[in-house]
Amino acid sequence: MSLDEIKSRITAAEQAAGRVVGSVRLIAVSKVQPDERVEAVLKQGHRCFGENRVQEAAGKWPAFRERFDGIDLHLIGPLQTNKARQAMDLCNVIHSLDRPKLANTFARLAQERGACPDLFIQVNTGEEPQKAGILPAGADRFIANCLDMDLPVQGLMCIPPANEEPSLHFALLAKIATRNGLTGLSMGMSADFESAIALGATHIRVGSAIFGARVAP
Ligand SMILES: *Cc1c(COP(=O)(O)O)cnc(C)c1O
Repeated sequence: MSLDEIKSRITAAEQAAGRVVGSVRLIAVSKVQPDERVEAVLKQGHRCFGENRVQEAAGKWPAFRERFDGIDLHLIGPLQTNKARQAMDLCNVIHSLDRPKLANTFARLAQERGACPDLFIQVNTGEEPQKAGILPAGADRFIANCLDMDLPVQGLMCIPPANEEPSLHFALLAKIATRNGLTGLSMGMSADFESAIALGATHIRVGSAIFGARVAP
């Protein structure tokens, strides 16, 4: 599927949901994709991309940034605290704030650097043991603690369980965000971004539908 096709589907979903056209940000998830495919999307004028590993992002994006202005890079994968500084230097937005230790590290580094990327708190809405994220029951407290630390939390992020109806998880994430006064919702991927938009997504993370299937790393 082409970038243009995805963009028209986003517009249609915004209209169907009675939302302002252009209010949903499309993060093109370029992890593991060959550089030619990424470059093709850059040449079509798209500037917002997502990576799930700091290492991979660091190997790929500085060179693209030398050639293309205005790249907005989002980290959407789990982050080790020892890579936090590198992630903050490289990324404009980090969607994987998922534990107190990482919040403390961001707060310390934000002081030291005088700046911090925008943050999304990842919520493990499916309560899956193997998945990162704050459990729904602990979300209110964690959000409050992060805001107390002056972290620039823009909203919440989730990755629904593979075999469940994603809209239940999108609705839960939206509910937690609303009751905590957060407006950003990072939810929806290639297979379900339209339903995420219907439920209020402000950032959708779409990989394979734009770039094609990921080649095994
Ligand atoms: C890979 C990935 C995506 C994109 O997945 P697609 O199904 O290819 O759209 C979205 N979010 C996260 C966190 C990912 O790791």
